Amino acid sequence: MSDLDFVSGTKPIPIERGEGVYLYARDGTEYVDAGASYACTPLGHSHPAVVEAVQEQAGKLTFVDSSYPVRSRENAYAALVASAPDDLTQAWFCNSGTEANEAALKFARSATGNSKIVAATRSFHGRTMGSLAATWKDKYKKPFEPLAGDVEFVPYGDAEALASAVDEETAAVILEPIQGEGGINVPPEGYLETARECTTDAGAALVFDEVQTGMGRTGQMWACQGVGVTPDILTTAKGLGNGLPIGGIVVRDWIADGAASHNATFSGGPVVTAAAHATISTLVEEEWPAHAAEMGDYLTAELESAVGDEIREIRGEGLLLGVELKRGANRVARDLALEQQVLALPAGRTVLRLLPPLVIDEAEADGLVEAMAAVIAPTTDAQ
Ligand SMILES: *Cc1c(COP(=O)(O)O)cnc(C)c1O
Repeated sequence: MSDLDFVSGTKPIPIERGEGVYLYARDGTEYVDAGASYACTPLGHSHPAVVEAVQEQAGKLTFVDSSYPVRSRENAYAALVASAPDDLTQAWFCNSGTEANEAALKFARSATGNSKIVAATRSFHGRTMGSLAATWKDKYKKPFEPLAGDVEFVPYGDAEALASAVDEETAAVILEPIQGEGGINVPPEGYLETARECTTDAGAALVFDEVQTGMGRTGQMWACQGVGVTPDILTTAKGLGNGLPIGGIVVRDWIADGAASHNATFSGGPVVTAAAHATISTLVEEEWPAHAAEMGDYLTAELESAVGDEIREIRGEGLLLGVELKRGANRVARDLALEQQVLALPAGRTVLRLLPPLVIDEAEADGLVEAMAAVIAPTTDAQ
């Protein structure tokens, strides 16, 4: 257990079972999942509503292709569209975040007749050729070039640079409402509004990648609802099936009307849509987004008072939090796992990412703060 390698992502902690915010190793050790499952379990691990929906659906019909209407897809579709801003009226399911963004970029191109994509520095949109082309980090891109090109990058958060990059040749602007992988970067006020205005003026599609910000994490079902800006295409995945592999896009009518042929064999399969329907319904009916907002404020305040002097800042919204450390995040993440049984993820060199399940309660949050204090500010403890 001494050579944990968080850089390559290999963590020699064999996980056997999960429940709520906890993961259990084969030897029975209990870990707090404070982000290690990449925001994929908003309702917590093995949530009974999702488990039941999946078991029942798998027993009835595990798969039939998407040309046949099935109840679980209809339910998931209706729930997804109902949860999205009013002007987003039609949806399509895929299997992952990168596929959702591929579809968004393809549909933006076919609906506008243009090819140019504008993306932001420090963005992450996925690892297939198209989404990867709109992703910032060279480490992910260089070995695989040439990618599906025609992407121009502008500094994230710089409204003026964005507005001047968008013209009548632009097919889409793709942005994360809050950047996740890039270090939990919250854009300045007015930035997403500018993105909306300049894309509307140019006739381009505004794509919000809500793969990480969505599913209630930032305090609303979708982060764009918190800022009151509706994109033309919203993409989702990660938490959509509470751990099952499903992604999706929700679009305005003009995008759907201009969409050329696109599909995937497993699109909207019965089992994954049963999971998505159960996940969205439970999040909405039990008001977990509001709880996420409260717990985000609580966690931020408690962390500030416990380790405020030892960190640079805490950024984010709801339970999408980035703790900017004064030292390397990899080492802190390793110590948290080994010494405190807390699983958290670095996002960039010095940022620790906290994305716990939205169902985390105050006592669990207190435990998380204590564990972080023990690793980040051990001397404070000894006083
Ligand atoms: C994780 C992520 C993706 C890619 O999702 P995959 O399911 O891994 O393909 C895309 N965009 C954002 C913002 C993400 O966080």
